[in-house]
Amino acid sequence: MTRIADFRSDLMSGIPPAALEAMVQTAQGAPEMGFRDDPFQARLEREVAELAGFEEALFVPTCTLANQIALRLWCRPGDSILAATDSHVASSEAASTAGLAGVAVRRLAGLRGHLSPGTVQAALAAPQGPGAQPTSLVWLENTQMRAGGTLAPAGWGAAIGELCRGAGRRVHLDGSRLWNAEAATGLPLATLAQGADSLSLSLNKAIGAPAGSLLLGSRDFIREAVAVRGTLGGAWRPVGFLAAAAIAALRGRTDRLGADHRRAGLLHAGLAAALGHRAGEAPDTNILLLALPEGIAASDIVDRLRGEHLLALALDEATLRFVVHARIDDQAIAQAVETVRRIMSHQASKPPPPSPQPTRTGDAIRWP
Ligand SMILES: *Cc1c(COP(=O)(O)O)cnc(C)c1O
Repeated sequence: MTRIADFRSDLMSGIPPAALEAMVQTAQGAPEMGFRDDPFQARLEREVAELAGFEEALFVPTCTLANQIALRLWCRPGDSILAATDSHVASSEAASTAGLAGVAVRRLAGLRGHLSPGTVQAALAAPQGPGAQPTSLVWLENTQMRAGGTLAPAGWGAAIGELCRGAGRRVHLDGSRLWNAEAATGLPLATLAQGADSLSLSLNKAIGAPAGSLLLGSRDFIREAVAVRGTLGGAWRPVGFLAAAAIAALRGRTDRLGADHRRAGLLHAGLAAALGHRAGEAPDTNILLLALPEGIAASDIVDRLRGEHLLALALDEATLRFVVHARIDDQAIAQAVETVRRIMSHQASKPPPPSPQPTRTGDAIRWP
């Protein structure tokens, strides 16, 4: 039977055996009742806070919740934040950002998805008219998902942090995949988080923990975050078994993610040999974006690939996303290269679909 190769997301990495074992063992003990007195949760929060150079951390169910708590704490309803056009907070979280935090996003063009210090400085210096939403926060994302898992250029976060401190603004880093940046650059998490007043990290993507994310910041920030987490329905209990799994899943992560990045490079090399420039530039980390020719819909290709036991995601109708994770081995990479090459060459030989007939609008309304 052909194996299914699932490149849709690093959410599909599965749970490392050591994490599964820790989860089962911990679940057999008596759970804790309180919001923050579980010893495994406390240990997870303390260990990662130390790694990332923050005073404290808080275990939360999702990275979206971590991000939204940060927005609530740094902004007042009616404020705005600066973020790169394609950032997760501005795209996937747009409804939460507006609806829960009441915050508008000023979207700025990034370089490979990343706001440069110069762009931030110019945006903060630009005069704002009366009635404009005051900008209280600058939002960074590393690695940047929609740009293809790109790494923020070294030093940009620290430089942005410095200029924001001088301008009385805060910086949040959406580090859902900061682990991949850690593995790809060899830099400590704390160096990668320099300049950020708060940080969010996913544990359930590349790391492979069964569930959960962390929000990090100062002691005062996390004390308030505990309260906001509760108001948003995120005060999950008991979670000792999930925290124990996350602690175990963090061990050995750098080697594991390094292997993912190497395989993403192989996938890129194979697709570039077959499809040329459409395979884009070589990936920085574990995400590869494939640009489709005009007239070919990503959802169509996704369906065809599924028929060949290959799962990918349509990031939009012109872009396929492949994410490499722990369940993708060398054989899955070879299968993906071969299947994509075959299906794309078949597509290219088909005549383009007829262009739709223009329809007139605008003259149908008659006022009585
Ligand atoms: C996945 C993701 C999130 C949200 O994570 P959830 O746990 O699914 O809410 C936030 N930011 C980025 C960059 C992500 O890729």
